[in-house]
Amino acid sequence: MIRENLAEVEEKICKACERAGRDRDEVTLIAVSKTKPISMIEEVLNAGIIEFGENKVQELTLKCEILPKKIHWHLIGHLQRNKVKYIIDQAYMIHSVDSLRLAQAISQEAVKKNVTASILIEVNVAMEESKYGVSIKEVLPLIEEVSKLPNLKINGLMTIAPFVENGEKNREIFKELKKLSVDIKTKNIDNVNMNVLSMGMTGDYEVAIEEGATHVRVGTGIFGERNYNID
Ligand SMILES: *Cc1c(COP(=O)(O)O)cnc(C)c1O
Repeated sequence: MIRENLAEVEEKICKACERAGRDRDEVTLIAVSKTKPISMIEEVLNAGIIEFGENKVQELTLKCEILPKKIHWHLIGHLQRNKVKYIIDQAYMIHSVDSLRLAQAISQEAVKKNVTASILIEVNVAMEESKYGVSIKEVLPLIEEVSKLPNLKINGLMTIAPFVENGEKNREIFKELKKLSVDIKTKNIDNVNMNVLSMGMTGDYEVAIEEGATHVRVGTGIFGERNYNID
């Protein structure tokens, strides 16, 4: 089933790229494997995907230990400062930085372990109360501060759009995040590039690609529905 799902997602990504006049190479598919067992991840890995997303520190480190080192683990969920030390040298990219204090903690641990942490700033474009992330207005001031920290590299922005039945409804949100990333890019801040725009999930990744996503995070579309009670 996973093979078929992957083929379908791949085809939809290609078509969205075509519609937007973009190269398929401009979009990275992150397979969101949270709650899913090792065996299923291996199946996706065997199909040639090495980018995986997890939203919990403990689950990421556990899977990272068991699975091949070639995997790039993306931390896409909320990160607590006291857990930074566990993932600092395991996460390929941290998508969910939304405060100076968290960035400082990441920087400190990165210095200790002598690594450079690749991070994205999480933006709550829709201003949903239930979501983490900073408001559009707060992004530039935050980036200006975070960019001064050692052993950190800000590579772009991330957003989690509202859950919708029809992905089209999130188009304006993706447009806004893209516009923000272009604005920030023109500021030419040291240590900051806007190469990554992490947006789009199973319900809306095609729209996100049309609006400029470089990284889409697809869970259900690849692995099927999640059952939080079992795992
Ligand atoms: C779970 C999750 C996803 C994937 O969601 P699906 O709708 O299953 O594709 C993407 N991004 C984040 C931040 C998530 O927590």
